[in-house]
Amino acid sequence: MKRIRVDFLVVGAGLAGSVTGFLLKEAGADVLALELLDAKTKDKLCGGMMSPNVFEYFVQVFGEGCKDILHPMLVPTFCQRYAGREIRSEATICTLPRKRLDDYCLERYLQAGGRLKDRATVREIDDSDGVAVCADLRTGETFEIEFDRIIGADGAMSAVRRLLTGKNQQVAVTLEGVAPLLSRACIFEYLTGDLGYSWYIPRGEDAVVGAGCLDCNAATCREHMEAFCRELQIEATHPVRGAAVPAGNDVLLEYGRRAFFAGDAAGLISGDCGAGIGQAVESARLLAKSLLNGSSYIKSMESRTDSLADLAATAKKTQFFLKFCIMRKGETAKQLTFLQQ
Ligand SMILES: Cc1cc2nc3c(=O)[nH]c(=O)nc-3n(C[C@H](O)[C@H](O)[C@H](O)COP(=O)(O)OP(=O)(O)OC[C@H]3O[C@@H](n4cnc5c(N)ncnc54)[C@H](O)[C@@H]3O)c2cc1C
Repeated sequence: MKRIRVDFLVVGAGLAGSVTGFLLKEAGADVLALELLDAKTKDKLCGGMMSPNVFEYFVQVFGEGCKDILHPMLVPTFCQRYAGREIRSEATICTLPRKRLDDYCLERYLQAGGRLKDRATVREIDDSDGVAVCADLRTGETFEIEFDRIIGADGAMSAVRRLLTGKNQQVAVTLEGVAPLLSRACIFEYLTGDLGYSWYIPRGEDAVVGAGCLDCNAATCREHMEAFCRELQIEATHPVRGAAVPAGNDVLLEYGRRAFFAGDAAGLISGDCGAGIGQAVESARLLAKSLLNGSSYIKSMESRTDSLADLAATAKKTQFFLKFCIMRKGETAKQLTFLQQ
């Protein structure tokens, strides 16, 4: 079997993988990224909503210039809703199409000289010897990669995590589709009955509508999404795609001596709202830094993982508290006033 040797094998060329790869490559390291999908056409399901602070993480990695290319859209109003009540606030969030973000990060990795093998994945990992058996999904050929370090950046259903630990992390079901742009306000509605939420997020020329459920299946999640569309008087979106997000209660940053995880593969997500873009970029940056200077990744992530663990442990309580605030303080949701904005 053909064998390749690299210092750093990055599995998954999404946000976490591209950012880790970019920073390692910039420091002159030998990096190869494997990506399951076609790098040019892959289009990750995601609302693309983040706080301006999170956007600054990208600036920290790629420099001020990335603002002009990515130009996030500031959202003027943020509505949180529950059971017919809502709290509106002057928004401190921005959105941008996720494909633009992913394409940019991957491009920067490639421009830095990073190697990419797309339509390829790992099949077996021997972490004591540092060898992965990989498959080229275009040709069906298998080959071996010998590595010093392997980085699992392959999302919520991480194959690296499953192959090493023997199990998947706990995930939540999400559905999302593209909708016409009816308003520049973001709406985040907590589900009644199940633990989860629905969202309407403007992205520029269009919007996305979705729902995520921590404790139910795809069919129930679809019902929640359709009910949300009816409430907003939006045609149910077609096609609707589904994806998993980490439940947020099972963080794994390292395994053995050679394996490290970042982003969704590490389980780094805010369990109360499914926000993971900031976690992916920051974990990738801190991981690259630790790998390059030999410091402890777990320690550098400590404050972040502690607060995520608190959030996950109290996700139910947090949501209950927010719902309670909305019910107490919020005005009755004015049906569709957002559409006129
Ligand atoms: C519907 C939905 C809406 C969301 N909305 C928001 C939002 O508005 N704001 C926010 O902050 N977060 C949001 N999130 C969460 C956010 O998208 C993730 O937390 C973030 O993308 C994590 O980045 P990542 O690089 O770790 O994983 P990903 O972006 O999932 O990247 C993983 C990469 O690995 C590749 N891969 C997967 N398996 C393999 C394999 N076996 N071999 C090789 N490669 C593989 C994938 O193709 C992908 O390119 C949303 C998630 C979903 C599902």
